[in-house]
Amino acid sequence: MITAQSLRRQIAALRWILPIILFLIVAGYETWEHMIVSYEAVDPDFHIEIIVFGVVGPTAVHFALTWLTQSLQALDRTQAEIQQLNIELERKVEERTQSLREAYEELEQTNERLQELDRLKSDFVSLVSHELRTPLTSINGGIELILRFAENLDKGQRETLLIISEQSARLTKLVENILDISMIEAGRLQLNLGPVALAPLLAQVRREIEAVTSAHHFRWSDPSGLPLVWADEDRLTDILLNLLDNAIKYSPARSEVTIQARPDDGRMVVSVTDCGMGIPEEERLKIFEKFHRVDSRDTKDAYGYGLGLYMVRLLVEAQGGQIWVESTVGEGSRFSFSIPLAKEIEGDAG
Ligand code: ADP
Repeated sequence: MITAQSLRRQIAALRWILPIILFLIVAGYETWEHMIVSYEAVDPDFHIEIIVFGVVGPTAVHFALTWLTQSLQALDRTQAEIQQLNIELERKVEERTQSLREAYEELEQTNERLQELDRLKSDFVSLVSHELRTPLTSINGGIELILRFAENLDKGQRETLLIISEQSARLTKLVENILDISMIEAGRLQLNLGPVALAPLLAQVRREIEAVTSAHHFRWSDPSGLPLVWADEDRLTDILLNLLDNAIKYSPARSEVTIQARPDDGRMVVSVTDCGMGIPEEERLKIFEKFHRVDSRDTKDAYGYGLGLYMVRLLVEAQGGQIWVESTVGEGSRFSFSIPLAKEIEGDAG
């Protein structure tokens, strides 16, 4: 098989052989033409034709073949360089791929470790919260019984018990919030979704709220005739109680708190409006993040951990809704959330 290298070698040899053969042919022919055929003595044409056909022609062929050989050599060199570059490139690509593979594996291991730690944290939080919830329920029940049936308590003892009851209720709420959040974050929250009538739910929330506080004036919009929503009844109650709790906490006593529910664009929008301190614009998204509290003296005076709105947001979103806040500092805030209408969901399913 003829390779590029053997071809180049043959051409290199030919650049000498071919001109010599050509010269010999020309010399032979001219000798035959000028001396043998005409039997004449050598004339000047003989020398001129030898020089023109026998020297210039073969020399031109020699240079042409030399140029071809050198071009082929240059081509060889370029090919060798390209090959070398290719090898170098492949080595570099292989090196990079290897280091990327290693970095990816490391990242995967770190991710697995983080997930494991997160799972352990969630398990730990759930365990601790469970363990705290049971004794707290007993404590709450015990205090309630004492307050209701112990007749010979003096004023100081009763006040102390009321403070213990209040603190214990707060602790219970905190533990419940932490437990709920860890369940939601771990994707283990079970939602009981179905059609829910708002009128009885709002009536129940109203009873609960008005039983614990009389410091505010509550205005409830008429819930009769509202379409059914698609939600988890207990979780919807939690959301409303949390928003109402905040409205009470962050607005002055005797101010008005309005609760409204109205269908809007294929969903139900429920809002809680207060006449409290309001929320600065730059805080309005952050307050829905975990542990975020507005850094103001009024907020610091109010008890809290910055978990309520985070949990409310997770619960609203888990039920296919959205939550937002409109607010004017010094005038008040309106927290609204949307929730799907039952007929929309059932219509989609059917
Ligand atoms: P917490 O009330 O326990 O601090 P939340 O998550 O319920 O936690 O609220 C986060 C923060 O948002 C509060 O600390 C408060 O600064 C602000 N906030 C919530 N509700 C209101 C409201 N109705 N008016 C003014 N600020 C509010």
